[in-house]
Amino acid sequence: MDYPFELGPIRPVDEADSLLIRTTRGCPWNRCDFCVNFKSSPFSLRHIDDIKKDIDAAADYFDGHPFRRCFLQDGDSLIMKTGKVIEILDYLKHHFPTLEIISSYGRAQSMIKKSLPELKELCQAGLNLLYCGMESGSDRVLQSINKGVTAADIISAGVQAKEAGMQLSEFIILGLGGVSLWREHARETAKVLNAINPDKIRVLTIGIKPGSALEEKWKNGSYVLQTEEEIIEEQQVLVSHLDDSITSHYANHHGVDLLLEARGQLPDEKSKLLAILGRFLDLSKEDKHNFILGRRLGMYQRLDDLQNHSLFNAVDEKMRNLGHPHAGELESLFHSLRSRIV
Ligand code: SF4
Repeated sequence: MDYPFELGPIRPVDEADSLLIRTTRGCPWNRCDFCVNFKSSPFSLRHIDDIKKDIDAAADYFDGHPFRRCFLQDGDSLIMKTGKVIEILDYLKHHFPTLEIISSYGRAQSMIKKSLPELKELCQAGLNLLYCGMESGSDRVLQSINKGVTAADIISAGVQAKEAGMQLSEFIILGLGGVSLWREHARETAKVLNAINPDKIRVLTIGIKPGSALEEKWKNGSYVLQTEEEIIEEQQVLVSHLDDSITSHYANHHGVDLLLEARGQLPDEKSKLLAILGRFLDLSKEDKHNFILGRRLGMYQRLDDLQNHSLFNAVDEKMRNLGHPHAGELESLFHSLRSRIV
């Protein structure tokens, strides 16, 4: 659909129904190995007059629609000067007075460059939710994917944003440590989350994107992808290492995640989360493969769908049509289907 204002290419899953206003183009870092979101678009700050013109155009276009949420695109609005962001927030709230939540991606690099009083000012002006792609809490994993931050940076950024009164959603990428670093990835990520206690923890399962630096490493063998089952084991270690003092909402929430029902409020639902992961891991090898194929083909939504005999048989037939692939071929197929999900 064509809109009379500029839109960026991505937004968080949780912002599906939000007003989108583009404040910057691309990502000022643009070097993470797994990410191709902005590979072909260099970063630029948008002029404040152009952003205001877009807000005017959006207000005309949506004609009084009572948006509750607005997401500021693209990769990192916090890189802008604090005064400019506040000017945009004021303008936005004037044109969309029903807004309750205004959010942005926040890279830890930019978040730690803002002082606590600045973050408080931003929060009071309306920027009350940040999505932080921490990806991992392991310094070795962060370094290996060229994230450009340390676990200590991520903790400082997250703790300060919360202290400023902002809500914080942390994204984790399962499988990012690969076969060699998965256990460290899970444990160290839990440690960082324990230190921050974000409002939300959102996990995403790695899909190696064509053209990414991670694809190069995968091809040359310096990064070895885990199997679907191993990635669930990794998630089991991650969840089991979250402290009982954590009060975050935890969710597998994207189509790339195998077990979408693994979501719940911590700490009360930690045992429920572990039971769901355990239920998958306890399946027979054949049922695991049937479930993974069914999920990756979009035929299953949740583990209970395995009890639907006609669905199970339909997936089983697809499996038989594949001939008798060996385990490595099956995993490649699962990964290739997963990587196509956007
Ligand atoms: S900081 Fe985010 S948007 Fe930028 S390259 Fe890394 S993952 Fe991509």
